[in-house]
Amino acid sequence: MASFNDELLSYIDSSPSPFHTVASTKKLLEKAGFKEIKEKDSWSKSCAPGDKYYLTRNSSTIVAFAIGKKWTSGNAFSIVGAHTDSPCLRIKPVSIKEESGYLQVGVETYGYAMWHTWFDRDLGVAGRVMVRSKDGSIGQKLVHIDRPIFRIPTLAIHLDPHAKSFSFNTETQLLPIAGLVDDPSTEELGADKKEGESEPLKLATERHHPSFIKLLAEELAVRPEEIVDFELLLYDVQKACLGGLRKEFIFASRLDNLVMSYTAIQGLIRSVDGKDALEEESSIRMVALFDDEEVGSRTAQGADSNVLLAILRRLSVISSGDLEDLFTAFDRSMSRSFLLSADMAHAIHPNYGEKHESKHAPRINKGVVVKLNANARYATNSPGVALLQEVARADINNDSNSESAVPLQLFVVRNDSNCGSTIGPLLSALLGIRTVDLGNPQLSMHSVRETCGSKDVEYALLLFLRFFQKFSKVAAGILEE
Ligand SMILES: [Zn+2]
Repeated sequence: MASFNDELLSYIDSSPSPFHTVASTKKLLEKAGFKEIKEKDSWSKSCAPGDKYYLTRNSSTIVAFAIGKKWTSGNAFSIVGAHTDSPCLRIKPVSIKEESGYLQVGVETYGYAMWHTWFDRDLGVAGRVMVRSKDGSIGQKLVHIDRPIFRIPTLAIHLDPHAKSFSFNTETQLLPIAGLVDDPSTEELGADKKEGESEPLKLATERHHPSFIKLLAEELAVRPEEIVDFELLLYDVQKACLGGLRKEFIFASRLDNLVMSYTAIQGLIRSVDGKDALEEESSIRMVALFDDEEVGSRTAQGADSNVLLAILRRLSVISSGDLEDLFTAFDRSMSRSFLLSADMAHAIHPNYGEKHESKHAPRINKGVVVKLNANARYATNSPGVALLQEVARADINNDSNSESAVPLQLFVVRNDSNCGSTIGPLLSALLGIRTVDLGNPQLSMHSVRETCGSKDVEYALLLFLRFFQKFSKVAAGILEE
């Protein structure tokens, strides 16, 4: 399992944006023999029982699945859902700014981060760029400039000695610097102005610092004027690493939710490893990684869209010759299916122990956290807890990974505290599917640099692997209505 931690670290480092998370995930799936399909095509001929596929939407959401050899329309889906995005700073559509001799770049806050942790960090830039090619068509290229270009400097303590706590304005004081105005490349400013007069929008070279556009163009091996638009974000260039006296921790950015995305995908891949793996399977095993969870999921590719619904509806009738199936297969499938909504959880903090209720205080490296909430901020209920316990148990013959059960922990938030939420409640309501909310415990959620347990990575991976392997056997016996 040590190699999985190493692979997780490089997965995190190569996934600074949701577009890159999807690209890193694709790489793992391709290596494991999953084939790409497209939403615009018909799947009736391309998708067959016993095979495995993936598709993407907006290049920032990815869904992978394997169809059991014994699948028939109306059968169950076993699904793990997680998210590809993390809170960050995104470059504004017009980002060009100058102040006191500094080149600055306008940024927009994405999600609910602890923005104070972004000060004095070395920030790189990543995302997608829309590029016009010679034939006039406009395509997308991913860019990842993995070196410190931007920085949001704090104010020296000498200049503000009486400040009691660190507070700042997110519009005016969270503004990165990108260089100095007397950079010779800024002389190119205005070089394209004439051309721009006939454009509906100002050219990219006018809306952003020309030296920045030049850097992007060099990185993508295109001409600056071929850059039409982009979606770029800043990220901390410090690499993910193991930490602690016995390497019991992982220190990294975006642990929420790349740890769950990675372990879910690896659980699926390992569950279909070997040519007989899907021989006796009657369900479809699926992992769905959604973009935009951190901003409420209500986008074309978010969990609160038709993306998963549309995919499940189309797959529910795969390999059916019966007309009646077309009308009922989806609903029959949903009543038998199960979703694990996988998102990181809050571990107890040694310096703020009172923030957890003592009987529900998850510890790092003590297993996957099952999240419950009486007010339905999480979707877990008793049948879900029962199923998960059966899944976590090590009592299956073909489980060669470990003889022991995957440890689980329970979490409810204190009554006097706010409770976060996940894609779990909204997907369970949208699909009418039995759902459990769970995730690995971590510290400093939504900091630019977070902390979780290295042993818990192994637990989550094993839990997802067993979920896919055992689901068809154990789910039917638990309150199937
Ligand atoms: Zn999350």
